Amino acid sequence: MHKIFEDTQTAFALKSDTELDRAYFLFKMIQSEPLVRIGTVITNFALKAHMPVEHLIRASVFDHFCGGITEEDCLPTIANMFTKNVHAILDYSVEGKEEESQFNLALEKTLQNIDFAHEKQSIPFAVFKPTGFGRLGLYQKLTEQKSLSEIEKVEWNKVVDRYNQVCKAAYDKDVPLLIDAEESWMQDAADDLIEVMMEKYNQKKVIVFGTLQMYRWDRMDYLKALYKRAKEKGFYVGMKLVRGAYMEKERERAEENGYPSPICESKQATDANFDAGITYMIEHKKLALFAGTHNEESTYKVMELAIEKGIKKDDKRLWFGQLYGMSDHISYNLAAQGYNVAKYLPYGPVRDVMPYLIRRAEENTSVSGQTSRELSLLKTERKRRKL
Ligand SMILES: Cc1cc2nc3c(=O)[nH]c(=O)nc-3n(C[C@H](O)[C@H](O)[C@H](O)COP(=O)(O)OP(=O)(O)OC[C@H]3O[C@@H](n4cnc5c(N)ncnc54)[C@H](O)[C@@H]3O)c2cc1C
Repeated sequence: MHKIFEDTQTAFALKSDTELDRAYFLFKMIQSEPLVRIGTVITNFALKAHMPVEHLIRASVFDHFCGGITEEDCLPTIANMFTKNVHAILDYSVEGKEEESQFNLALEKTLQNIDFAHEKQSIPFAVFKPTGFGRLGLYQKLTEQKSLSEIEKVEWNKVVDRYNQVCKAAYDKDVPLLIDAEESWMQDAADDLIEVMMEKYNQKKVIVFGTLQMYRWDRMDYLKALYKRAKEKGFYVGMKLVRGAYMEKERERAEENGYPSPICESKQATDANFDAGITYMIEHKKLALFAGTHNEESTYKVMELAIEKGIKKDDKRLWFGQLYGMSDHISYNLAAQGYNVAKYLPYGPVRDVMPYLIRRAEENTSVSGQTSRELSLLKTERKRRKL
C-alpha cells in the first residue's frame, strides 16, 4: 500500500509539460526561506502602495494555489479534476476583513456555494471560516468568558444568525458543511456555536463538520467530551482533522502573554496526537472524518484503520482532503484507488487572498519540509516525461 503515492504519472496526469515546469520552478523558488520572507514584505508593500503587481502574483503563486477570482473562474478546473475523480471544495479565501458588509458577502458566497454543491456531483462540501462571519475580537471576548456590551450582543446575534442560515441551507439541500478552525484564543466561541449547529442539524447524519487542530494538546479531551455529549443528546459529530496552520503565531502569543503554549511540544507529539484523533474517529460509529492532511504516513494510517474496521473506500463518512496546488501525489493516487478525495479550491480577489497565499508559501519553505517532497516528485515526473 505504501507504494501508491510514488506513482507520479497518475499524480500529474492533468498537468501539461508547461504546467509541470511552472510548478517545479515555483517550489524551487519558495524553497528558500529568506526569499519567501523578503518576497512577502515586498509584495505586501507593493499592494499597499497600489503598485501594479497583481499580474505578477497571478502568474506565479496565485494561479498555482487558487482556482481564480470568481466561482465561475474555478469551474473548468473543477471539471478537469473530476475527470480523475478528485472532487473540489470552493473556498472563498478572503481573510482579515472586519466589516459587516464583508461578513454578509461571505455569507452570500457560502449560500451560493451550497447551491453549487447541491447541483454538482464534483463539489461534495461547502466551507467557511469562523472569522469570515464575525469579528475575531468578538469571538475572543466570548472565548475569554467576558461579558458583551449591548451593541456587541446585537453583533453576536448576527453571527449566530449567519451560522444558522448556512447550516439550515446545508441541511435543506443535503450538502455537508465544513467549518474551519483558527486561532486558539477565539476558537472556543466558534466551537460552542458549531456544537449548537451539530445538535440541531446532525440528528440523522453529519451535515455540520467542525475542525480539530491536532497541534493543540487539548483537542483529544475536547473530542471525547464532545462525543459524550453527542451520545447523550443523540446527534452525530463530523470533524475535519488537521494539524494546524498557526503554530508560530500561537507560540509567540503564549510567550508574550506568559501562558502555557496550547501547541504540542514537538512535531512528534503533534503527529501522535493526530494519530490518536483519527483512530478515535474511525473507532466510533457516530463520527464522520474528513482527514485534511498532506502527510503520507497519516494518510496510510487512515487507510489501514478503515480496512481494519471494515469501512469501505467510498463510505461517505470518510473523506481525504488536500489543498489545491499541493500533494497531488496523495489526492490523485487515492482517487485512482477509489477513495473519497476533495481538494480545497481557494478563490477571491488577488490582494484579498494574500494572507492565504503567504501561509502556503511559508508552509512550503525548506524548513517545514513539504517542498523537498513536492520537488522530488515533480523532478521524477519531469524525468519520466524526458523534459
Ligand atoms: C483540506 C485541508 C483543510 C485545512 N483546514 C485547516 C483549518 O481549518 N485550520 C487550520 O489551522 N489548518 C487547516 N489546514 C492546514 C493544515 O493545518 C496544514 O496543512 C498543516 O498544518 C500541514 O500539516 P500536514 O498534516 O499536512 O503535515 P505535516 O507537514 O506532517 O505537518 C506540519 C504541521 O505539523 C505541525 N508541527 C510542525 N512542527 C511542529 C513542532 N515543532 N511542534 C509541534 N507541531 C509541529 C504544524 O501544525 C505544521 O503545520 C487544512 C489543510 C487541509 C489539507
